[in-house]
Amino acid sequence: MGDIEKIIIIGTGNAGYTAAIYAARANLNPLVIEGYQQGGQLAITTDVENFPGFPDGIQGPELMELMRKQAERFGTRTVSGMVQGADFSKRPFHLTLDNGKGYQAESVIIATGAAAKYIGLRAERDLLGYGVSACATCDGAFFRGKEVAVVGGGDTAMEESTFLTKFASKVTVIHRRDSLRASKIMQEKARKNPKIEWIWDTTVADVLDPKQKKVTGLKLKNVKTGKESDFKTDGLFLAIGHEPGTGFLKGHIELDPKGFIILKKYTMTSVDGVFAAGDCVDHRYKQAVTAAGMGCQAALDAEKWLEGNFG
Ligand code: NAP
Repeated sequence: MGDIEKIIIIGTGNAGYTAAIYAARANLNPLVIEGYQQGGQLAITTDVENFPGFPDGIQGPELMELMRKQAERFGTRTVSGMVQGADFSKRPFHLTLDNGKGYQAESVIIATGAAAKYIGLRAERDLLGYGVSACATCDGAFFRGKEVAVVGGGDTAMEESTFLTKFASKVTVIHRRDSLRASKIMQEKARKNPKIEWIWDTTVADVLDPKQKKVTGLKLKNVKTGKESDFKTDGLFLAIGHEPGTGFLKGHIELDPKGFIILKKYTMTSVDGVFAAGDCVDHRYKQAVTAAGMGCQAALDAEKWLEGNFG
């Protein structure tokens, strides 16, 4: 166990790096624990066209590399590994990584993000950014005049389908049951939209011909009859929920039933001195820029708390 850090930031998405930039500039000498997907969700996307300051868009991995450099320029240090154990019961807080190393800190910012849930198809991973997406806000505009399919029956699926009709010529919602989980108001909005069509009781069994490095169609399976069919489409949007990266926090800070971190005061969690920001907290906005904003808030809150001035 090394020295006691003033602040440890867990995660290297927009929230984590922004928190690091602010903490470093506040002379807190932050240590960032990078998981194995450095750069978070944007590290696996292609064009990002809605992050302010990049009028021509920017590639997700490049944006994250710039943020990392900016954090390092002000003295942020990084270590690689997944946090497996957290002891927030006494101060300094203790974190244990999967490589066995332990770290101590006076304060912690959790920015472990969330990961979109995937159906579990090999092709779906291979074609991510090439016709497969889990974020209509990020990728919808690439499907102007094209036909897309959206998988899911919750509010996200309704919201994303409705949003996609701004660009796509046709949006087909594919849902595994014959009734939607989504709230009535969002269902109605989607059902009234003439560009949205529905396929019920059906799952996506595979993507057709994935070697083409684009989506041309899907193999669908009716779960009631077991019958398989081919379905022509240019894009596959997954809207089956997100999972926050908070498994290691169970029992240590308060989480909601879906595992998202509950904030008690500003960005402070149920444990004094432990803060959280980004998609591990927020399942409403889920945007790079909102995560970055929260990362900034968490660093400012941690700085004030360390000074005994949190209010
Ligand atoms: P969700 O409510 O958990 O819905 C997930 C949907 O995906 C369900 O319809 C589920 O089917 C389906 N699904 C799950 N796993 C699947 C799989 N492996 N294969 C096929 N389908 C699968 O998730 P969400 O829609 O992302 O919403 C999450 C939370 O955010 C909710 O509380 C929601 O109300 C909220 N939200 C609110 C807004 C808003 O108010 N503007 C917008 C978006 C989200 P089943 O129905 O059969 O389980």
